[in-house]
Amino acid sequence: MSADSSPDGNDADVIVVGAGLAGLVATRELEAKGISVIICEARERVGGRLLNEPLPIGDQVTEVGGEWVGPTQFKIKALADELGLRRHATYDEGDNLIDWKGKAVRYKGTIPRVNPAVLADIGQAQLRFERMARSVDPAAPWKAKSAERWDRQTLGAWFARNTATAGAPMMFEIAAEMIWGAEPADISLLHALAYTSAAGSFSALIDVKGGAQEERIVEGSQAVPLRLAEQLKSQLLLESPVSRIDHHGGGVCVHAGGRELKARAVIVTIPPPLTGQIDWHPLLPVNRDQLVQRMPHGAAIKCLAVYQRPFWRDDGLSGQAIDPAGPVRATYDNSPADGSCGVMLGFLVGTRARALGELEPQAREAEVLKGFVRMFGAQAAQPVAYIEQDWAKERWTRGCPVCYMPPGAMTAHGAALREPIGPIHWAGAETATRWTGYMDGAVSSGEDAANAVAAALARSAA
Ligand SMILES: Cc1cc2nc3c(=O)[nH]c(=O)nc-3n(C[C@H](O)[C@H](O)[C@H](O)COP(=O)(O)OP(=O)(O)OC[C@H]3O[C@@H](n4cnc5c(N)ncnc54)[C@H](O)[C@@H]3O)c2cc1C
Repeated sequence: MSADSSPDGNDADVIVVGAGLAGLVATRELEAKGISVIICEARERVGGRLLNEPLPIGDQVTEVGGEWVGPTQFKIKALADELGLRRHATYDEGDNLIDWKGKAVRYKGTIPRVNPAVLADIGQAQLRFERMARSVDPAAPWKAKSAERWDRQTLGAWFARNTATAGAPMMFEIAAEMIWGAEPADISLLHALAYTSAAGSFSALIDVKGGAQEERIVEGSQAVPLRLAEQLKSQLLLESPVSRIDHHGGGVCVHAGGRELKARAVIVTIPPPLTGQIDWHPLLPVNRDQLVQRMPHGAAIKCLAVYQRPFWRDDGLSGQAIDPAGPVRATYDNSPADGSCGVMLGFLVGTRARALGELEPQAREAEVLKGFVRMFGAQAAQPVAYIEQDWAKERWTRGCPVCYMPPGAMTAHGAALREPIGPIHWAGAETATRWTGYMDGAVSSGEDAANAVAAALARSAA
């Protein structure tokens, strides 16, 4: 049934807010059940935190938002396969680099082997962390036996207490910044454990081979939402930000881009902090309202330098580097599968993203390229093109890659993250209980919300 079935096209069974991966998947699932949907998207495009950018050499694209998929991310991989998209391995051959006390040191694997004491220290702390994570149910972290204790401390405090060398907490800090776009000193230990549990392990979060960074989509990750949107039969309203939602026992009235849309239920798929900007009538329950006041986004700027060739490969380098001293914390070889050019990807994360985000674009580019040169030599200074994306400056995202919880939020308000409120249901990567924060989680959250809404509509019709 098409959402246009009402005379003015303003009524449907369900309104979906946001045409990122979660919103598009929810819409598709509802359509498959014969439920009419109108989907409202604030931007002029679909995909949200997934965005392809054309490369200036060849006819390939690169991604300035989410891009990698890992071996246990079954949902996103199955969806990409179904949509006819191809995957390729992230380039992971040769040596990785770390700037260790001013010298570029080569290593293999995820953890740099710079110093046996640091390595052993990281190993034992990671083991302990993994064991704790396994005891946390990502669907209800607040029920873990030690939930209160773990939610009272930051991830940074835990790292400091559970390591003996200076090098180990620094490595964990870089890993945490890459995962959450935030410093460990900002993140609740319980939140970090739940997030890790949802991914299977800490290694799964940080590894390239065997982990979340293992593969990419040849056509670029935004091809997933673009193809989903092409296949939808529902009314997709672009440039239609939802500004107000009136809700009552019988349904909702959603105000979007000058229209008033009526439905029996709404699925809100936007990042949690942005749900606090919607004008709710009546106000949402205090627990939900205060959750979103305590669930910020991380910060990250993705910086991509495009070269004629991936020249670092000639030196037996993978393009992966860690730089504890410089502004660019980590780099990856982000060249397209067909090798038509070389793309070096660097991340500015957390406080560094906020500080460098204040600079003029040319000054920021110069800082980033300086970091690339320190690692990969003088050739890195002269890219053919430079592309960057600061998600904190995006009106309809406001940070990235994901929202996290500081201490206290999970035990006080965690249950409100997913709990429907009358006709209001929640989806989005942050609400997922498997691969929370990732594309895979966005897909499963969309499916789960669609199933829950369909069941609720069936109950109310009975
Ligand atoms: C830099 C970066 C790197 C990442 N790396 C990876 C990675 O390698 N692998 C991975 O799996 N994941 C990665 N992620 C995370 C991944 O991109 C997200 O988990 C996923 O795309 C989230 O999808 P979503 O549908 O839940 O939310 P979103 O993509 O945020 O979609 C929400 C949609 O709602 C819209 N919207 C917002 N407000 C309103 C409103 N008021 N009214 C209507 N519409 C509104 C937005 O425009 C957006 O389209 C990364 C993200 C970023 C930004």
